[in-house]
Amino acid sequence: MQNYNIFSLARNALTGHKNWQRAWRSPPLKPAYDVVVIGAGGHGLATAYYLAKEYGVTNVAVLERGWLGGGNIARNTITIRSNYMRDESIPFYVKSVAMYEALTKELNFNMMHSKRTMVDVVQTYPKMRELRRRQLTMDIYGSTYEQISEAELRRRIPALTGGGPNARLPVIGGMVHTDAGVNRHDAVAWGYARGADELGVEIHQQTAVESLLRGADGAIEGVQTSRGVVRAKKVAVAVSGHTTTLTETAGLKLPLRTMNLTAFVSEPVKPLVDVIVNCPDSGFYFSQSDKGEMVIGGAPDMGQSFRRDIKQHVFEDTVTAMLSLFPSFKKLKLMRQWGGHLDIAHDASPIMSKTDVEGLFVTAGWWGGYKAIPAGGLTLAHLITTGQPHKLMAPFTLDRFRHLDFVMEAGTTTAR
Ligand SMILES: Cc1cc2nc3c(=O)[nH]c(=O)nc-3n(C[C@H](O)[C@H](O)[C@H](O)COP(=O)(O)OP(=O)(O)OC[C@H]3O[C@@H](n4cnc5c(N)ncnc54)[C@H](O)[C@@H]3O)c2cc1C
Repeated sequence: MQNYNIFSLARNALTGHKNWQRAWRSPPLKPAYDVVVIGAGGHGLATAYYLAKEYGVTNVAVLERGWLGGGNIARNTITIRSNYMRDESIPFYVKSVAMYEALTKELNFNMMHSKRTMVDVVQTYPKMRELRRRQLTMDIYGSTYEQISEAELRRRIPALTGGGPNARLPVIGGMVHTDAGVNRHDAVAWGYARGADELGVEIHQQTAVESLLRGADGAIEGVQTSRGVVRAKKVAVAVSGHTTTLTETAGLKLPLRTMNLTAFVSEPVKPLVDVIVNCPDSGFYFSQSDKGEMVIGGAPDMGQSFRRDIKQHVFEDTVTAMLSLFPSFKKLKLMRQWGGHLDIAHDASPIMSKTDVEGLFVTAGWWGGYKAIPAGGLTLAHLITTGQPHKLMAPFTLDRFRHLDFVMEAGTTTAR
């Protein structure tokens, strides 16, 4: 694999950037593989990469119906953090955040990782109590969370001029999560794709999986794609909001609902805020991109839906809440808005699991799943190869629905 560094950059600059190698191949589709991974988003590509790198399984095809990295990984607000609520969740996200911090070096691809801290703006005492409880649990697992006063909160976020004592919801204080950061979503997809390809994994774009195929014994035996049948004894479904539409073709019903989550972005402005701001009582969050744009996310639209745009009332609710705390933002011009569809389980925790169909694996229920890509890929690769859940993912298998052993997680960003 061609190394990206100052010397290769200089060399290629001198030759007009015409001699860069392709980052990944486009090989012909074979009739069979050891493992088929469906979906070239973050989780699918990371799973393929770790299958090859950590477990030596290289006869792997990643099948993507569009272009790689064009799904929710391209639509998210790139917040990476580990301030979750449950004992089961926190170690998983601590691991994932640590893996993200090392990813630029590991993949020789600049992730533009910026560990810039998340600050929660708290407006109600129940929320403050809940976050303090999170803090105590997080302490045990080595994740950072610290309470700050209202004065300190306003010092850290000068643009926070609303929410005064006469406001409907006055600001009462904040929490600081220094482990949080942002990075570049394209780089995550492209870096994992390049790394996996280098290790022998094949990535097939424009190859939609239409259905899962089961043999006479009920076990998985491959997939029907838009380019013909591809056989494999192990198939991993990593298609984010589309999980149920595929698993139902194998007669498998999963406890998931698909909903729409949206974001929008402003024109670039001068540096205004250097942390990720999360307002859980009001239901919005934002950070400023390296280009200066405000990247703003709101609460989900609670209706079940596969839409990928933004509903007007969700947009208006988010903007209204934001202007009540950041009134100066009313001058900001918005440039783009978009949505993605994500699936969520009843307990708001992910599902990484084998299924009742022998050889069929799922990684789904990723509501805030961007931050989970490295650890999600690593642990799913472990499960596919060994047949046993990795200890970090053991609480998140489908067994929890059989035994009513839910991991009720309130740690999603704007969850109220
Ligand atoms: C607006 C918004 C903001 C978000 N913000 C954050 C955040 O700040 N932090 C965070 O941690 N998470 C966030 N998320 C969630 C995060 O984006 C997702 O949880 C994560 O990207 C899902 O995993 P993925 O990358 O594998 O999914 P995707 O990128 O969606 O990958 C799935 C792939 O499967 C492909 N596919 C689907 N069906 C088929 C088929 N039949 N055959 C072949 N391929 C198929 C799709 O084309 C897609 O490329 C946000 C999501 C949205 C929508």
